[in-house]
Amino acid sequence: MKIAIYTLGCKVNQYETQAIETELTLRGHALVPFEGPADAYIINTCTVTAVSDHKSRQAIRRCRKYNPAAVVGVCGCYAQTDPQAVAALGVDLVSGTAGRLPFLDDLERLAAARTAASSDGPEPLVTVGNIMSQRSFEELPAGGLAGRTRAMLKVEDGCVNFCSYCIIPYARGPVRSLPLADAAGQARRLAEEGYRELVLTGIEISSWGQDFRDGTSLIDLIEAICAAAPGCRVRLGSLEPRTITAGFCRRAAALPNLCDHFHLSMQSGCDATLKRMNRKYDSARYYESISLLREFFDRPGITTDLIVGFPGETEEEFEATLAFLRRCAFSAMHIFPYSRREGTPGAKMPGQVLRAVKEERARRARSVAEELRRRYLEEQVGRTLSVLFEEEKDGLWRGHAPNYTEVTVSGQGLHNVERPVRITGVSGERLTGEPV
Ligand code: SF4
Repeated sequence: MKIAIYTLGCKVNQYETQAIETELTLRGHALVPFEGPADAYIINTCTVTAVSDHKSRQAIRRCRKYNPAAVVGVCGCYAQTDPQAVAALGVDLVSGTAGRLPFLDDLERLAAARTAASSDGPEPLVTVGNIMSQRSFEELPAGGLAGRTRAMLKVEDGCVNFCSYCIIPYARGPVRSLPLADAAGQARRLAEEGYRELVLTGIEISSWGQDFRDGTSLIDLIEAICAAAPGCRVRLGSLEPRTITAGFCRRAAALPNLCDHFHLSMQSGCDATLKRMNRKYDSARYYESISLLREFFDRPGITTDLIVGFPGETEEEFEATLAFLRRCAFSAMHIFPYSRREGTPGAKMPGQVLRAVKEERARRARSVAEELRRRYLEEQVGRTLSVLFEEEKDGLWRGHAPNYTEVTVSGQGLHNVERPVRITGVSGERLTGEPV
C-alpha cells in the first residue's frame, strides 16, 4: 500500500520516523509524499510546546483532505500525553511513544479491513499504554536517509530529570538504554552501509546505562561505538553538564574518531533561575564542564540551548545569563523564549514574563550568540580541519568539520569523502578553505 508520513519535533522523532520508513519498506509498502493521495497516513506527533500540539492537530486534519477514505494512524509524544484529544479528531489508530512495530501491524490490519466504499470506520483503536511503566528499550531498524553521509543511532529513551518547564518525562517515561553490544552492532552495520558519521541520539543520552544498574555509563558506550566503527566519525547528541568530568574527558580525548563537538544543555546562566527550572547544576558546575572540555580538546565546538523569560526571570537575572554566555564563549546556540506548557510545574509558577519581554530578551541573547559565533569562526582561520563533504551547491562542496563548523571548498566528486582542509576565511555562517 502507499503510505505517507508526517513528522514533527526533535531528532528522536525524526529517527523513529526513519526507522518506521525502513520497516514499512521491508514490509513491501511504498512511501509517498504527505501532500497527496495515499492509502494510509502516519503522523508522528510532538508535544514539547503548545504550538507543537497545534501543529500536530493541523497535520492530522490535513491528511483527510488528500484521501478521505485513507486509514490515519497517529503516534508520538502528543498522542502519548493526550490520546483522547487525538482520537476525537476522527483518526483510526492512536498509539504513543512505545510499541512502534505493533502500531504498524495495527495500521496494516485496519487498512486491509477497510474498503474504499466505507470510509467511516468504527471507533478509533487507542493502544496508548502507561509509559511510566515501560522498562525496556524498543530496538528499531537503524539507518539514515539514502545518499546521506550521516546516520542517527538512537541509544536511549526516556528522562527522569523533570525540569520544571518540560513535558517530555510524561511523554517518554523512564530511562531505557540500548544494550552496549547491540549499539556496537548497529554502529558496525551503519558503517558497512557506507555512512561516514554516526550521531548518538536519545531523549537524555547522559543517562545512558543508568537502567542497567551495573556501573556502565555513557563513556563506555562511546568507546564501544568508536571501536566498532573506526572508519566513521562519532558525534554526540545533547549532554547534561554532570557527564563532563576529568575521567570522561581523558577517555573521550583518546578516541580518534570522536568529534570534538559537545552540545551541553545550559538553559540559563543564572543560579536562581536554574534552581526554579529544577536543573541539577549551577553555573559554576557548568563552567567547570566547559573548562574541562577546553583543557582536553583543542578549541572544541561547544554549543548550547538557552531559554529566556522563564517565570520569575528578572532583568538582573537575564543580564547575569548574558554575562555568563560571554564567559562560556559558545560556538553556536539555540535560543528559545520560554513557552508555557500545561502539565508542567513552570506553567503554574508566579511571575510569568510578558511575551514582548521574552521576545526582546531572545533578540538580545541572539545578538550575543552571533558575536560569539563570529569570534569562534574567525579563530578557525589558519587551522587544518578534517571535513566530511555532504553536498555540492553552486559549484562549491559543503561539509562539516568535527567541531560542527560548516566548511566550503571548490572541488569535484567529494560526496561522502573526508579530507583535511586548510581554513582560509569566513564567509557569512561558513568557513572557506582549500583541501590539502
Ligand atoms: S533533561 Fe530536562 S529538558 Fe531534557 S528531556 Fe529531561 S526533563 Fe526535559
